[in-house]
Amino acid sequence: MTSPQKFLPYGRQSIDADDVAAVARALQSDYLTTGPGVGRFEQAFAEAVGARYAVASNSGTAALHLACIAIGLAPGDAVIVPTLTFLATANAARFCGAEVIFADVDPESGRLTAAHLEAALARAGSTAKSARVKAVLPVHLNGHCADMVAIRALTEARGLRVIEDACHALGGRHRAGNDSMAPVGACALSDLACFSLHPVKTMTTGEGGVTTTNDAEQYRLMQLYRSHGMSRDPATFRHADLAFGPDGQPNPWYYEMQALGWNYRITDFACALGESQLGKLPGFIARRRELAAHYDRQLTPLAPVLKTVPGQAGDDPALHLYAVLIDFAAIGKSRAQVMAELKALGIGTMVHYLPVHQQPYYRERYGRQDLPGADSYYARQLSIPLYPDMTEADVTRVVDGLRRCLG
Ligand SMILES: *Cc1c(COP(=O)(O)O)cnc(C)c1O
Repeated sequence: MTSPQKFLPYGRQSIDADDVAAVARALQSDYLTTGPGVGRFEQAFAEAVGARYAVASNSGTAALHLACIAIGLAPGDAVIVPTLTFLATANAARFCGAEVIFADVDPESGRLTAAHLEAALARAGSTAKSARVKAVLPVHLNGHCADMVAIRALTEARGLRVIEDACHALGGRHRAGNDSMAPVGACALSDLACFSLHPVKTMTTGEGGVTTTNDAEQYRLMQLYRSHGMSRDPATFRHADLAFGPDGQPNPWYYEMQALGWNYRITDFACALGESQLGKLPGFIARRRELAAHYDRQLTPLAPVLKTVPGQAGDDPALHLYAVLIDFAAIGKSRAQVMAELKALGIGTMVHYLPVHQQPYYRERYGRQDLPGADSYYARQLSIPLYPDMTEADVTRVVDGLRRCLG
């Protein structure tokens, strides 16, 4: 009888005793939310990625929405979003009333290239309900950065803003010029960068997100909109009759709503977990790279039926997901069949992602669109297990499972 093998999910968090102790300490402190832990985490995060400012929020989706608010995105504006991404990249722009122009992506990497961005810009007039393009949201799919040098050159020439969806890429570095590298999040070639701290990402706070920027005004706006558009800073008060007593002192109960904001606040105990995890991020990334190198080596002989996804030349990626592209027609099995067979072997897989332009909400808004690069990537894509607590034997088990399954 074979002993049951532990199930390997496609991704999962790594939590140790230090993390648990950090959260327990926060829970026993005076503040469960918006205490000193939030600012401390934000400062540590900004330092870790080399940005001037970081705003923590309660999801990657909130982080993207706050970034869109920070550039003043509004009805009448459009943004360019690669269609091969999670829903939230596009939705963040829609929350601001802006229209989304979906760009196609490279069929082998799934990423936005300068050529695909140019093609989307050329189509913009006819597809965006006459909205004017204001920004581009490149996505660092799987942790591999989009070609930021080429994208920045294009956007600078046209006066477009750049918001990085870096939800897959925390802990990586990308090429920032001829001889220079920049950490993802430093905004070396963008206006803002957005991160998710969901448990499958490269570090976690449970639910959580962070937006980074080097711009003081964007930082102020994101803090304001994160908490109801509400200010408690007397220096910013606009209505003196309500704000100040006869002695000219600010009324102690007073706060002022200056804009229509949200409650995107993160808790102190989530930030305590974040601060603890941040210290381990370099180790997590190093481990992910080691495991990915084992996959690279062991999967090469499975070509051409199975191909790995190429990175961006010169980058040090963070490797959130390990994606493979499988020729399902060639093996005579559907993707659902392959997923079921792997699951029976204790191997979890997932598909990242159905191109967003195919989602009913967007099809109904913009009509059917032909983005063949994204459709080709999607048709072949499968994410296989990758997370720091995996062993090399786990990697070999996954590869053996794939080999059996692909025949
Ligand atoms: C996870 C993710 C998001 C959203 O993050 P949440 O924290 O789940 O809200 C956005 N974009 C991409 C590419 C993601 O992977």
